[in-house]
Amino acid sequence: MMSEFDLIVIGGGSGGLAAAQRAAEYGAKVALVESHRLGGTCVNVGCVPKKVMWNAANLAEGLRDAPDYGFALSAGTHDWGLLKDKRDAYVQRLNGIYEGNLAKRGITLVRGRAHFVDGRTVAAAGSSLSAPHIIVATGGRPLLPPIPGAELGITSDGFFELPRRPQRVAIVGSGYIAVELTGIFAALGSQVTLVLRGDTALKHFDSMIGESMLRILREEGVSIVAQAWPSALDRDARGSLALSFRDGRRLEPLDCVLWAIGRAPAVEEWGLDRAGVDLDAYGFIVTDKYQDTSAAGVYAIGDVTGRAQLTPVAIAAGRRLSDRLFGGQGDRHLDYQTIPTVVFGHPPIGTVGLTEQAARDDYGDEAVTVFRSSFIPMYHALTTAKPRCDMKLVTVGPKRRVVGVHVVGPGADEMMQGFAVAVRMGATKEDLDDTVAIHPTSAEELVTMR
Ligand SMILES: Cc1cc2nc3c(=O)[nH]c(=O)nc-3n(C[C@H](O)[C@H](O)[C@H](O)COP(=O)(O)OP(=O)(O)OC[C@H]3O[C@@H](n4cnc5c(N)ncnc54)[C@H](O)[C@@H]3O)c2cc1C
Repeated sequence: MMSEFDLIVIGGGSGGLAAAQRAAEYGAKVALVESHRLGGTCVNVGCVPKKVMWNAANLAEGLRDAPDYGFALSAGTHDWGLLKDKRDAYVQRLNGIYEGNLAKRGITLVRGRAHFVDGRTVAAAGSSLSAPHIIVATGGRPLLPPIPGAELGITSDGFFELPRRPQRVAIVGSGYIAVELTGIFAALGSQVTLVLRGDTALKHFDSMIGESMLRILREEGVSIVAQAWPSALDRDARGSLALSFRDGRRLEPLDCVLWAIGRAPAVEEWGLDRAGVDLDAYGFIVTDKYQDTSAAGVYAIGDVTGRAQLTPVAIAAGRRLSDRLFGGQGDRHLDYQTIPTVVFGHPPIGTVGLTEQAARDDYGDEAVTVFRSSFIPMYHALTTAKPRCDMKLVTVGPKRRVVGVHVVGPGADEMMQGFAVAVRMGATKEDLDDTVAIHPTSAEELVTMR
């Protein structure tokens, strides 16, 4: 049987849910197809459970520092299993809330895997759905390297299934997920080796960030293995893993190897070609500034487009698309410039706008003025551990318009949202200098740099 809708959304993750709900608020008749759990990557195997683990790791660091603040603590143990159960229950509650939100707005939820029949029709769970507008919001999945034994390792998805904390861990990757999971394991007591293909981490960020982070990780006892290309993963008779590299090096014994080497778009085997949707060389769906694909009436948002793969970006793109399609806002679209982001490392990283290098490339060396600050946050004046906080402001032109703010250090996560507003509004260095500082904080450094 064919059911007719105004809009079909494929994928009930961050972007799909946001687009579907906004369209329904305008009165559109909407169907949303989801093959797994509502909430997608962010809620089930991404931001949300990751932040719970980050909170736990923060507490571990607080406990480490507590004796320096006069607490006499007896050594406690951490119950990973208990935390996992509580985290899973929280995520399950969120799954239910999302389902309730769809029902409240009269959205038809189809549980199953969607397949395109043609550019107007989708098959799922034995039904045929058709609509003049179809939004693809299918996200992505973590990659395994094409080497023997790769399946003996886990990905970020597997991290959230671990019933207990592995003691000897190798994390392969240099992106934000690798850095975040390294920080969590290390703070909770695992012996962690971070394996990099090159010499740096977080290379899409300002160079200060990767350098600071690697220095801090080393100070925290994380081993960094650089210039290392994995060639095989083996398990010995006692169950330990050994990671071999192309140059003959070997890392062993290990209890867990976690691949954080990138994510692929979820575009395979469900007939995107039947809808006439073009993909780029990496398999991401090609979209224009309105999220339109090459097929009329088919749109794509979120990770599947490969643009700024973050939850608020998927949500913002989805809502703006529905504003345009059903809210009469003909030019509504997402501006992908100046997107702030946080890496929930230990310590966290907050960043918005251009890296120093990007500013130099875009505006020329002459036009760029950079301000830096590096200090030990006051909290650490009393602690044995003394991680530094590093900050950089990137400004351009004679008025020194602030085009980039980069911070590695405690509080960077909560600091950045406000500075993102300032950067978006075109704040200059003088505006920051004219802003009265909040004392004593780390953030005040951003308005007192000389
Ligand atoms: C470990 C990790 C940590 C992260 N932390 C952060 C963070 O702190 N902050 C942040 O902003 N972002 C974070 N992200 C990124 C964030 O999770 C994604 O950017 C976001 O979830 C993308 O939303 P989406 O709607 O594009 O896709 P998804 O949320 O992945 O949703 C896609 C949905 O589509 C469904 N689907 C796929 N194919 C089909 C089909 N054929 N039929 C039906 N359904 C289908 C999937 O089951 C899935 O539910 C993290 C990601 C990971 C992996």
